[in-house]
Amino acid sequence: MSFELIRLPYASNALEPFISQKTLEFHYEKHLQSYVTNLNALVSGTRFERMELENIIKESDGPTFNNAGQVLNHNLYFSQFSPNGNSTPTGSLANTIDRTFGSFENFKKEFVAAGSSLFGSGWVFLSKNERDQLFITKESNAGTPITKGLKPILIFDVWEHAYYLDYQNRRVDHLNNLWNIVDWELVGQRFDL
Ligand code: MN
Repeated sequence: MSFELIRLPYASNALEPFISQKTLEFHYEKHLQSYVTNLNALVSGTRFERMELENIIKESDGPTFNNAGQVLNHNLYFSQFSPNGNSTPTGSLANTIDRTFGSFENFKKEFVAAGSSLFGSGWVFLSKNERDQLFITKESNAGTPITKGLKPILIFDVWEHAYYLDYQNRRVDHLNNLWNIVDWELVGQRFDL
């Protein structure tokens, strides 16, 4: 068994103007593909070869952890967008966001602030614990809150490769624009699972 590049649930130009076709193609076809290729080479012939990604992440370090973390983070990232986004959370997720962060608007503000203040490369996450409490956390490089017992339900990429072609140094503008394409129905499903 080997890991495969996930299929995108939209066309490569479908997220324009918020993520350009050029950025999406480099990010998905080059960056994510290379993490998948590297991971397959690293786990080949090892005890990780037939493991689920989440278990590899919990049990590995070094290059295997880095590539497994990047594959998992990007799988969550690319699958959470929709050209018909611009929705808002509903149901239990909406209620928990309001209760935790005061309002949806304030949640977005805190999430973008976390992403923009991360030094260097990494990710910002909205995650839940076993009691359905929500947390905004950030991780450097290939980090994931899975190693801390949290389940990520929304994830923004703050590696420069995610935005530099479109936004150059304007990371905050990139993060704010992503709200236009988040598929909150899917994020809500992740929360309810
Ligand atoms: Mn990336």
